[in-house]
Amino acid sequence: LSKRIPVPEGPQELTNLSSTFNTMLQELERQFEREKGFIADASHELRTPLTALRGNLKLLKRRGKDNPEIFEKSIASMDEEGLRMQRLISQLLELARSDHVQTKKIKVNVATVIQDAVEETWQDSNGISLTCEVDERIFVLGDIDQLRQVTVILLENAKKYTNTGGSVKIFAQQKGDHVEVSVQDSGIGIPEEDIPKIFNRFYRVDKARSRKTGGTGLGLSIAKQLVELHNGAIDVQSVEGKGSIFTVYLTSASTSQ
Ligand code: ADP
Repeated sequence: LSKRIPVPEGPQELTNLSSTFNTMLQELERQFEREKGFIADASHELRTPLTALRGNLKLLKRRGKDNPEIFEKSIASMDEEGLRMQRLISQLLELARSDHVQTKKIKVNVATVIQDAVEETWQDSNGISLTCEVDERIFVLGDIDQLRQVTVILLENAKKYTNTGGSVKIFAQQKGDHVEVSVQDSGIGIPEEDIPKIFNRFYRVDKARSRKTGGTGLGLSIAKQLVELHNGAIDVQSVEGKGSIFTVYLTSASTSQ
């Protein structure tokens, strides 16, 4: 791949063509490197729970029979690590799928998407209050399942990174020809230097906290990919120790019908 097509000293068209080819080659090389990095990261992330699983299995085999405490602890830990692998694999598949999936864009009611996402994420509030402020006449052009998925990711994160007693607010606003959907929390916030990296695959500010709450470091990269399939954008404003606000920008499909 590292071969380059020599630029001929000839007619301008040929020169242009070869430089276009070289640019394409460069892009392919970059893509290839990214894929390689992704596979390395994914393998590493999968190996961690697998190692823990095997460690517990060994312990169980050696000492589990005559020690009920070890038996219980190892089983619980294996259960957790198994779940973690399951979540990781389904998110990896999700990420791979959303790379080329088609979005079926229709007129979607934002309040309905939010309501569904709230039902999915807020059955157990963990002592965190949730308020919704959404005008029922707001519509966007989008794929209802994918938009719900993005909203679920943002709500789950708001819950994971906010301590008991905190609050989360979700709201939507019509702004000209686009709609902004925001999830605001009074949680732990994100250090300024980490903000540009949190949408990267597997990036986590605090691995221990993410791990404890069942995080994989893939949620925001999936959300970003899905939003981009809608030709939209996602951004975040955050103050460490105070909270964060994630905003998704989507194309409006008129306010009422
Ligand atoms: P994870 O599975 O770790 O939550 P994400 O891709 O969803 O992965 O998020 C990446 C990282 O961004 C998280 O590990 C966390 O450090 C940070 N983050 C995401 N959402 C929030 C939030 N609402 N408040 C504070 N930090 C957040």
